[in-house]
Amino acid sequence: MAVEKPREIAVRILKQHAEGRDYVEILLETALADASLSPADRGLCQELVYGLVRWQATLDWLIVRKTGGRTQKPLLQILLRLGLYQMFWLDRIPNHAVVHEAVEIARRLGFGPQSGFVNAVLRGYLRERAETEKLLEELKIKQPHLGSSHPEWLVERWHARWGGARTTQLLEWNNTPPATFARINTLRTDTAKLTAQWNSEGVRFLVRNWEWMGDGLVFQLESHPPLASLASFQQGWFYVQDPSTLLAVQELKTQPGETVLDLCAAPGGKTTLIAQQMKNQGHIVAADVSADRLKLIQENCARLGVTCVKTILLPNLNSQPSTSYDRVLVDAPCSNTGVMRRRVDLRWRIRPEEIERLRKAQLELLRQAAPRLRPGGVLVYSTCSLEPEENQNVVKQFLSEHAEFKLRSERELLPFIDGVDGAYVARLERTP
Ligand code: SAM
Repeated sequence: MAVEKPREIAVRILKQHAEGRDYVEILLETALADASLSPADRGLCQELVYGLVRWQATLDWLIVRKTGGRTQKPLLQILLRLGLYQMFWLDRIPNHAVVHEAVEIARRLGFGPQSGFVNAVLRGYLRERAETEKLLEELKIKQPHLGSSHPEWLVERWHARWGGARTTQLLEWNNTPPATFARINTLRTDTAKLTAQWNSEGVRFLVRNWEWMGDGLVFQLESHPPLASLASFQQGWFYVQDPSTLLAVQELKTQPGETVLDLCAAPGGKTTLIAQQMKNQGHIVAADVSADRLKLIQENCARLGVTCVKTILLPNLNSQPSTSYDRVLVDAPCSNTGVMRRRVDLRWRIRPEEIERLRKAQLELLRQAAPRLRPGGVLVYSTCSLEPEENQNVVKQFLSEHAEFKLRSERELLPFIDGVDGAYVARLERTP
């Protein structure tokens, strides 16, 4: 059987993605699981796939300049993007090899007659390399949605809110591959044991602290073998999550022995941290509308040794004894605009009208949550959206309808200020 190379695998994934088969992260994971690639080739394949999706608008702008706007077959467009991405974004592959390989892949995939066209477009750019690099820099300033490859409506929305400099920082953040962060699971281990184990497993890490979390809780993983292969992972000594996600749990301030409703809980990143905060003592009801995702909570709880969680598939919450909970977390489904660097193809899927639909759904979730909280209890509402419609506005409208709730604190984490994924967290109290 012929051995596929990373570029061909990348092209295959990108073609499936262009056909709308699945999220690009899932297509990549599936393809890499079946491929026998060296770690370096896996890294290259991922870099090419994510790079081409992130920089799609800029790459297509370059292609239009040389093709007079003529529409290519999707696969040919992908091959041109692949060549240009390697030429202008990566420096580890010599440019003549980039052109040669793109032409070869075109031939192998049945585009022999068009291989001259691929060659001409890429060679054209090879000759104009320095001018093109300058043009690309200018494009970032003159037409940021094209220069930084984002939908125009989103860039305009952010520009109106934060101005040019901060929007530029956000666009750059979204285009930068994210770091991996691990939260220690203190139900299973302690810092000394975890770090000794990581040293023996070849994990390189840094301790990271932000003021909204306890010391020594989060580590940035600089390099590591595949995480699922590590004993420290299998034994549940850590959970991978961005530091921004800890803020909502911090604001919930749960105590051992309390009752907690986590209304949008899957896959359980916050549920399991709440359990850790409660020292695994008390009752957490982790609810979600997705049965598949509910299984992820169960798997994560089992791996992390969390035993105080009961999962409930919505809308079956009413079958629960009508407990009035001490704390309720509503970590609502949202547009995810704060985590765009991690959701690689999100920027091309999200539509402006989605924000209004989400706002209504989020408000409805808060309305459902409200009567489940005991008087004097705490309700935390959180999202990983940067959009005020989904954040402050939802809370404002909820408060206008529920005089028995008071806003105790509200915080927004912004990538260009806080250096973490975007998040919004409001802490409300039901008056006693
Ligand atoms: N809290 C989770 C964590 O920290 O791992 C992340 C939750 S994610 C932001 C939002 C979740 O809300 C998804 O798992 C989705 O299935 C769920 N969801 C969507 N609509 C819902 C609804 N009407 N009621 C409850 N959950 C919902």
